[in-house]
Amino acid sequence: MIKIMSVNAGSSSLKFKLFEMPEEKVITSGIADRIGHEDAIFSIKLLDGTSKKQILPIKDHARAVELLISALIDEHIISSLSEIKGIGHRIVQGGKYFSHSEILNEDTEAKIKELIPLAPLHNGAHLTAFKAFKNAVPDAGNVAVFDTAFHQSMEMEDYLYAIPYEYYEKYSIRRYGAHGTSHDYLSQIAKETYLKNVEHPSIITLHIGSGSSLCAIKDGKCVATSMGLTPLAGVVMGTRCGDIDPSVMPYIISQTGKTSQEVYDIFNFQSGLKGISGVSNDTRDIEEAMEKGNERAIIAAKMFARSIANYIGQYYVRLGHVDLLVFSAGIGENSSTFRKLIVEACKEALGLDLDEAKNLEYVHGKHGYISTKKSKIPMVVIPTDEELMIAKDVVKYLKLSD
Ligand code: AMP
Repeated sequence: MIKIMSVNAGSSSLKFKLFEMPEEKVITSGIADRIGHEDAIFSIKLLDGTSKKQILPIKDHARAVELLISALIDEHIISSLSEIKGIGHRIVQGGKYFSHSEILNEDTEAKIKELIPLAPLHNGAHLTAFKAFKNAVPDAGNVAVFDTAFHQSMEMEDYLYAIPYEYYEKYSIRRYGAHGTSHDYLSQIAKETYLKNVEHPSIITLHIGSGSSLCAIKDGKCVATSMGLTPLAGVVMGTRCGDIDPSVMPYIISQTGKTSQEVYDIFNFQSGLKGISGVSNDTRDIEEAMEKGNERAIIAAKMFARSIANYIGQYYVRLGHVDLLVFSAGIGENSSTFRKLIVEACKEALGLDLDEAKNLEYVHGKHGYISTKKSKIPMVVIPTDEELMIAKDVVKYLKLSD
């Protein structure tokens, strides 16, 4: 029985989950949010199932790690820091260097640092958190788990952009994808649970949450994915526009006098479901507005579903056939309405048949088939678990055992 910490440091947050492995038992989890603010939030689950939440200044990620470490001891979640044998860090951008997880040493650290220009809001924060953990728990090993690693198996034709080749050579501009840890996890669970007897399975995974991406997977390897150089590309998302004609950027600049950074921020934070509906980026709010007949909410939802259906069609062609369609993440696991809209948008071409009752039933952690036997492609809901995947990789790469 060993304790492993999974860490997900975002630009202004630090999420954590402490596991007991190999039992895969979650001991505690929580978040430090609004890092850099006077009224930041630190929240942690206690052993009795309740949560402790504090509002306090958290100046940086190092302070967030200090708070977490103190809480683990003060709240008697662990009795000594030496119980933590390994720490896994989610790293957003691994560039061309990493096609699997790696022990976090000086070499790995230097490469993650070199990649900061490709993920300015994330890779720097990951390294700050890593250093803070290294100081606080010096005896534990650290492993980097990359969001991009699973997608490194794509072929050049699938990851290059059709711009002059020198931009790829000189500046490494290409499609990297994201959510790789989740797509990899979903692919493994799909194989173990639903495709045991299928040789060389082809599947499409839909990780659809506040950020959304699809992945075409053949034989457990990524063939194509919808996010690009950054997570802005692909399908319509909560606040991101997804694929868009690049000319929109200079045209908005010429018409409004905004800077390219301002327009880029609009594409990232004010677009997608939020921008079209004018209601919210959250599908719960969109569903409520749709029920009241809000036209823009209805259009936003249809655009979201159609953009996902378009990628499903594209990946069906890319794979040649599909053995399983997997719905996952916040929307894929919880929204019967949005799942139905997506299926409606591609069912005729693909011969999909949704089991309406199962689709309504399988939310909030319930999972299984949501298609009838008539469906030409089976469809399932699988709850994703990136933190568990990270913990598993820590055990694997640090070669830890009981
Ligand atoms: P994630 O980023 O995977 O945590 O997904 C978060 C998103 O999932 C939220 O912004 C909502 O759009 C969506 N979501 C979560 N719970 C529900 C629910 N019960 N019904 C509809 N949508 C949900």
